Amino acid sequence: MTETVLLVGGGGREHAIARAVARAEDGELYACASNRNPGIDAIASGYETIDETDGDAIVEYAESVGATLAAVGPESALNAGVADALDDAGIYAFGPREAEARIETDKAFQREFMAEHSIPGCPTFATFESGEEAADYIREYDGDLAIKPRGLTGGKGVRVIGDQITEAEGIEFVLGSEYESFVLEERLIGEEFTIQAFVADGEYRVSPAVQDHKRAFEGDEGPNTGGMGSYSDSTPQLPFMTEADYDDAVEVIDAVVEAMPDYKGILYGQFMLTTEGPKVVEFNARFGDPEAMNTLPVLATDFVDLLVAGREGESLPELEFEPKATVCKYAVPEGYPTDPKAGAKVAINAESAGDAQLFYASVDAREDGIYTTTSRSFAVVGVADSIAEAEAVVEDAFDRTGTDGLRVRHDIGTAKLVQTRIDHMRELRE
Ligand code: AMP
Repeated sequence: MTETVLLVGGGGREHAIARAVARAEDGELYACASNRNPGIDAIASGYETIDETDGDAIVEYAESVGATLAAVGPESALNAGVADALDDAGIYAFGPREAEARIETDKAFQREFMAEHSIPGCPTFATFESGEEAADYIREYDGDLAIKPRGLTGGKGVRVIGDQITEAEGIEFVLGSEYESFVLEERLIGEEFTIQAFVADGEYRVSPAVQDHKRAFEGDEGPNTGGMGSYSDSTPQLPFMTEADYDDAVEVIDAVVEAMPDYKGILYGQFMLTTEGPKVVEFNARFGDPEAMNTLPVLATDFVDLLVAGREGESLPELEFEPKATVCKYAVPEGYPTDPKAGAKVAINAESAGDAQLFYASVDAREDGIYTTTSRSFAVVGVADSIAEAEAVVEDAFDRTGTDGLRVRHDIGTAKLVQTRIDHMRELRE
């Protein structure tokens, strides 16, 4: 039977999900999002522009196209209860209900849940309901702290004392920011990696580790962004970690799934590999963006089969991945993230990308072409036998098409940057 899949969301991550649905044997794709993603538009049978937090409107569209399944991409939609609305209308949503999505949307809940269920890898933390109390704690704490606003901030709310800011700037931030409720936790030192798991009915299946690059500029300088790019290896682990480190992180996912038996969708664990093993930086309740663009292009298992198994309460198929490395680099508008300049014409297209895969994110499709907006524009992904070869595939595409009006972190996935990660971890472990 052909499954009609409604995809919610219109970023690079959702373009990757759209391709995975389009590749499936029995999937017909419809999409809705706040923006119009030209890449999704080109492969979907229908596409409506709908506020992705408007559960009623999304259910109405899902019913009008006869959706039998839904895949919810963005955290904003999960936070607004879009998965609940679809489920309640009888359309199985691959994405957690609002209550379970709190593992991402409420950082105080996330840490308290970890403590309550003795989930391994939890840093020491404290929660505060006012800036003044948080400031007192920062003054008294002996050591560096990560300061996290409690709710969703689009990946841009966290400040780390001793890394991007001083203690005085941390105090200023909690006293003067728009946020009131904070989690303060020990600063973790090490190398970050992500593992994304497919979860349904108390079962989970993991995918290879990915390393994202959140900082805006080359050499990990500048403010945090939504993510400038990422890489994965052909093994489940990354060059700076061992298989045992990967397995330790999977133990964390295992413990979360056991403690949250109703969870369904993607559980994204972001870890800091420290000298004491992997610690949890955070959980997300959906694919990462960019990390979805590393994982889904090499997923050999039929994506729709996974969703069907979740809906039917059947055992999830084992995940198979092509044994390939991947590198993903976002092109962002000049000035991003603090002072982005929109309106540059995007030169690259699927043909000129050559061997690389192109995923659109936030762009404006006009009659005479595709233009940048003020958010991340598009991602270019290379898939090859090694990280270095995958990186070269991406750079070939940028060399051919140019990056006028755009900025790219060319260092992501280079042998030089990967080696600094390996050296960093080796130094810490010595
Ligand atoms: P989050 O929004 O929780 O993913 O945090 C954004 C970034 O802040 C992470 O990717 C880390 O680089 C950094 N970060 C978050 N928590 C910590 C921590 N406890 N120690 C050090 N860095 C952290």
